[in-house]
Amino acid sequence: MSEQSAATAVSEEEAVRFTSELIRIDTTNTGDPSTVVGERMAAEWVAEQLSDVGFETTYVESGAKGRGNVVARLAGEDSGRGALLVHGHLDVVPADASEWSVHPFSGAVQDGYVWGRGAVDMKDMVGMTLATARRLKRDGVVPKRDLIFAFVADEEAGGEYGAQWLVENRPELFEGATEAISEVGGFSITVKDGVRAYVVETAEKGIAWLKLRARGRAGHGSMVHEDNAVTKLTQAVARLGTHRFPLVLTDSVREFLAAMTELTGMRFDEEDLDGTVAKLGGVARMVGATLRDTANPTMLSGGYKANVIPSVAEAVVDCRVLPGREEAFLRELDDILGPDIEREYITHLPAVETTFDGALVDHMADSITAEDPGARTIPYMLSGGTDAKSFQQLGIRCFGFAPLRLPADLDFSALFHGVDERVPVDALKFGTRVLDRFLRTC
Ligand SMILES: [Zn+2]
Repeated sequence: MSEQSAATAVSEEEAVRFTSELIRIDTTNTGDPSTVVGERMAAEWVAEQLSDVGFETTYVESGAKGRGNVVARLAGEDSGRGALLVHGHLDVVPADASEWSVHPFSGAVQDGYVWGRGAVDMKDMVGMTLATARRLKRDGVVPKRDLIFAFVADEEAGGEYGAQWLVENRPELFEGATEAISEVGGFSITVKDGVRAYVVETAEKGIAWLKLRARGRAGHGSMVHEDNAVTKLTQAVARLGTHRFPLVLTDSVREFLAAMTELTGMRFDEEDLDGTVAKLGGVARMVGATLRDTANPTMLSGGYKANVIPSVAEAVVDCRVLPGREEAFLRELDDILGPDIEREYITHLPAVETTFDGALVDHMADSITAEDPGARTIPYMLSGGTDAKSFQQLGIRCFGFAPLRLPADLDFSALFHGVDERVPVDALKFGTRVLDRFLRTC
């Protein structure tokens, strides 16, 4: 075995082991800060792996006890060139062990997979990033540009105690960063026998969680009553929940569909885009939600006794808005709700969109094809949200690029926050090789 391939083997082995060890540190984020468990332990563990090979690390607790974040830098040849930020979150969503075939915090490595909560979201990428950073340091590599590695808390609850806090309070940690890579992109979808496309996230819908409120006259439930808050609210919620927002093709989605046409010969008829996209199989769920804005009612409350008409009723709606649609969306929303409904934001995070071009995008393609010849990298839009929403506020172009070569029959998008979340060991090794090449040359 050459020295080079021995070093690669060490790095691949570390990526698998790190992913498993990180899963064993329970970093459940319920959204309630008082229940936070392992973020500090995970951050300290990550810092240890980095300082082990000579990195100087900065440990920051973001606004509350235990919300650990770690940042480290590897100086490049030309620090005048913008730095590349590689960021990953350490927290995970809750998991109910009774539903799983292995314990969700076991990090079991079996049947060719690493199993557990966080295996794809996103302790896999954190493991690969750590292994790669360590190898670059051990090999004494001076990359082309500065690399900033950031491992952060609280992504699963919007980053208030993680990325968003760091952006607002410690922006100097990211000084000089012009571009970033992180989760929910870079994985393969098999478009036909043996032909893979790697989807790179270039856009994210915005998040608007809205509280709706109707007011009426309180009164006795036995009376004739024309001004009922519950009735007004539920009518508005029903109108919104069944409303279909217009189809809008953003650049990311248009480019994705064009690439899929090239690769598969499938035509995406604008007259029946939902129908054609549905034929894409596993990817359909992902892409289908990026064709239009959505507004899903998720919570309802009002009243306290069967025979008392309350003066107030409230609902929560989870709205996801396409880049550039914010104003038009609100106009349409207000039309549907009507003048009697008040609304306020609970969470309001902007959409993200960048173009799929430039040297960094070329390096992504080259690093992928070096390991998977014949593959294509194509852009896509994520309907959900990531820490990119925070980092873009620093003027950073954000991409989802956490490379994984996946088996054709794996329903990958279902594993995010899903039961039996797991990542193929081979995919982790593949991703580590891709990331290594990418970070050396980008
Ligand atoms: Zn995530």
